[in-house]
Amino acid sequence: MEVMSVSVSSPVFRASHTKAFDYCVPIRKKTVIDRKFVFNCMNYSSLEVAADKPELLTNLVKDVDWPSPTDEIPFWKRKFHTRDVNPEIPVNIEKDSDPLHVIHVTAEMAPIAKVGGLGDVVTGLARACLLRGHKVDIMLPFYECIQKDDIQELSLLSTYSSYFDGNWIQTNAYSGLVSDIPVILIEPMNQFFKGEDVYGGSYNELEAYLFFSRACLEWMQVTGTQPDIIHVHEWQTGALPLLYWDMYCHLSLHKPRIVLTIHNMEHYGECRQEQLNKCGLDGSLYATIDKAIDDRTIGHNPERLSLLKGAIVYSNSVVTVSPTYLQETLCSGWLASALITNRDKYHGILNGIDTVMWNPASVAFLPANYHAQNTDGKKVCKQYLQRGLGLAFEGRVPLVVCISRLVAQKGLHLIKHAISHIGKHGGQMIVLGKAPDGRVQSEFEALANLHNKGSTIRILLMYSEELSHMLYAGADMVLIPSIYEPCGLAQMIGMRYGSVPIVRKTGGLADTVFDMDDQSQPEMANGFVFEGTDEASLSGALDRAFFYYKEKPIEWANIVQKVMQIDNSWNKTASKYIDVYNSIRVRW
Ligand code: ADP
Repeated sequence: MEVMSVSVSSPVFRASHTKAFDYCVPIRKKTVIDRKFVFNCMNYSSLEVAADKPELLTNLVKDVDWPSPTDEIPFWKRKFHTRDVNPEIPVNIEKDSDPLHVIHVTAEMAPIAKVGGLGDVVTGLARACLLRGHKVDIMLPFYECIQKDDIQELSLLSTYSSYFDGNWIQTNAYSGLVSDIPVILIEPMNQFFKGEDVYGGSYNELEAYLFFSRACLEWMQVTGTQPDIIHVHEWQTGALPLLYWDMYCHLSLHKPRIVLTIHNMEHYGECRQEQLNKCGLDGSLYATIDKAIDDRTIGHNPERLSLLKGAIVYSNSVVTVSPTYLQETLCSGWLASALITNRDKYHGILNGIDTVMWNPASVAFLPANYHAQNTDGKKVCKQYLQRGLGLAFEGRVPLVVCISRLVAQKGLHLIKHAISHIGKHGGQMIVLGKAPDGRVQSEFEALANLHNKGSTIRILLMYSEELSHMLYAGADMVLIPSIYEPCGLAQMIGMRYGSVPIVRKTGGLADTVFDMDDQSQPEMANGFVFEGTDEASLSGALDRAFFYYKEKPIEWANIVQKVMQIDNSWNKTASKYIDVYNSIRVRW
């Protein structure tokens, strides 16, 4: 495995998707229990005093192995004993009286196969429903990049054949547990899902997901599994509702009803009729306006299908991930007419976060744990990052993080502007991101080369779940300057970790972040909001946040405590999904 040595003189931190950690170096010197004990026994009032005196903080926190940029293994690549981040499952959740069986069919699941928020949502919603007494399984492709040791009780469940392009492909179904959630992993004996990453392998992605959608139904059919709900996500599993209603429910599956969640309308699963044929459907039958045709291609040669549109038409219920995004999607974009036609079954349910996975009080990846009543561990996390990345750690300097896929949607020009603005205005910034587009990746590499030598900015072009926890914990502010954002999780995770959000007012960001200076609803105030997509609008919000941080330290401490106590958990919103499930379930 590649070992990344980080030094100030080799400033561009680059890596592919982090995989197993080959080295076992504990982040703190003692075991988790010892460490918690040591932290709990520490005199926090003296730590409070020490907050602005880093040398003293260092002396007090004797059990922290402070990292350095010259470490042979960077701190975020050290081995953790588990990726099952948190064994502390809440036990006092009231059970629902009429349990359902839900099977999610998805391309992502956190943390084993996560690229963005889709993975988080599937895991968080599944856990919330399990805790309420429902039976939940998650079906996903057995990507070659999934680390087998991240799956507990992994075992071969069945071997069967599933149709694709004139052949029956031998397929293995494995069962296991990921963070206590039952999974069924589908592994075809062909080239699909092979490669180093979840997406971007050297196979045809659309065809692989067409295969996967059918293989999940085929597995249910051969094993006689009839859940109440099959919950599909995004275009990748958009063929499943078509396959279910036009094929499998004429075979032996009758009971399931289908829910589709649209996490992002940008990707709509463009599909040629011949490609749809490959999963056994007659593609020409779907090329009509009331089925799956991509309206924009009508009259073109050839016309195209959209798997997402087909799924909107064929699912019993359609959900998108925030009320504001629901309104936005009804007003703009070519899918608006399909959504308006299906308005009765279209719901906007705000995503939650999985507070078991995202818990600063117990997550294993942090050098110090903390909670809303005592945030001293957060100061340790901040200095840990600063030292480990070679940032200055003297004085009271606001540290902003931006953890994001580096794609146009996320406001790339604004992220770049923030880097230079923060550097010039007495702050620090860490960007953690990966760009699927090589041109964007190169631009950010150039920026990393320019800035990573200094003491204020770090641009880390990689994916690392562990590092993301450390960044949310060590930051004072988390920046999400998206051009559009269906829901956004980074602002909610940031708040849970006591990092104050700075966001553009769009989609789910508008539903979850309310400006500190908005006098009309001071009780809701929890961050800094700007509206324009121009650089000046962002600068204004950053300047206001820095002013609060530097000039109003008591108000700042209060807002940190306040955002940590906001309940953005799935426990709050899962009931809305369960209402949707119950509204369409049938009893046999
Ligand atoms: P999207 O789904 O559009 O990517 P969300 O805000 O809904 O955006 O979810 C993003 C999720 O992916 C968050 O959990 C965020 O922490 C995580 N994430 C994004 N980029 C990275 C990265 N480079 N390394 C680790 N986690 C990342």
